[in-house]
Amino acid sequence: MDLVASCREKLSYFRIKELKDVLSQLSLSKQGKKQDLVERILGALSEEQVSKIWVNKKSPAVRKEEVAKLVAKLVDDTYRKMQVSGTTDLASKGQCTSDSSNVKSKGEIDDPSHLDIKVRCPCGSPLKTETLIKCDDPRCEVWQHIDCVIIPEKPMEEKPPNPDPFYCEICRLSRADPFLHTIGHLLYPVKLSITNIPNDGTNPVQSVERTFQLTRADKESLTKQEYDVQAWCMLLNDKVPFRMHWPQYADLQVNGVSVRAIDRPGSQQLGANGRDDGPIITSCTKDGFNKITLTGCDPRVFCFGVRLIKRQTVQQASQASFNLCL
Ligand SMILES: [Zn+2]
Ligand SMILES: [Zn+2]
Repeated sequence: MDLVASCREKLSYFRIKELKDVLSQLSLSKQGKKQDLVERILGALSEEQVSKIWVNKKSPAVRKEEVAKLVAKLVDDTYRKMQVSGTTDLASKGQCTSDSSNVKSKGEIDDPSHLDIKVRCPCGSPLKTETLIKCDDPRCEVWQHIDCVIIPEKPMEEKPPNPDPFYCEICRLSRADPFLHTIGHLLYPVKLSITNIPNDGTNPVQSVERTFQLTRADKESLTKQEYDVQAWCMLLNDKVPFRMHWPQYADLQVNGVSVRAIDRPGSQQLGANGRDDGPIITSCTKDGFNKITLTGCDPRVFCFGVRLIKRQTVQQASQASFNLCL
């Protein structure tokens, strides 16, 4: 396929907006119908007009075919951006055969800064960075920083591949125990941070300290037997996604009162049946602000949160997990 034909094909996917973008970058007129705009861009590949503008303005040494190359590149870049943002449905048309090295893997986007997306990451930063991954739960679809959530189990290991499907911690949590329904998040997932790396090669100390608030409405709900406040913790990028997982030697305190987070010797990595539980901390909470701290001694990376839960009957739970599978 020659340059003009391949550009024509790409331009057929452009909307007026992209066509005008390209034209304005070429300092050409943006007037006319869609077909006029397409023809004007294609004309720029061969015509004297653009060569004149560019050759005079920029550098007289720029040759005509280089101008054509630049125009083609501009078309190509715009096309790729549309492809990545899902503006074109190229995959279904089977047309992204060439240059697959430039097509990012599922969930990653090139330039998310202009897109209307929601970033909620356990690092706490809402910044739309270059490398984001989207939660595959259709009712969630939050984006997270890949480097914050896809991490090797041991610090020196290579970064594992992106899980497919990928779920954020909140969606993982909601699938971890079908008998507990999340009413609200009192403390959104936060990452534990390493506070001390011992020289003797033993496990680093990591901790987090936060406050969460119980409103009057929350307190009202908590008078009912089936409502509770639960602290939870998960290993980021756990190979078993739907389970809780506390760090070794977990020490949990709510308003200065120690709460037993794990029911196992501190040195053991996981509880019975290969999973941990989330302790109910309702009795340690009070109206208004509550302080919660978690310290552990573990090289792996965890995130931690507090939620208001409602216990479900077997019937409700099976209905809920049925809904999750839809
Ligand atoms: Zn992050
Ligand atoms: Zn999610």
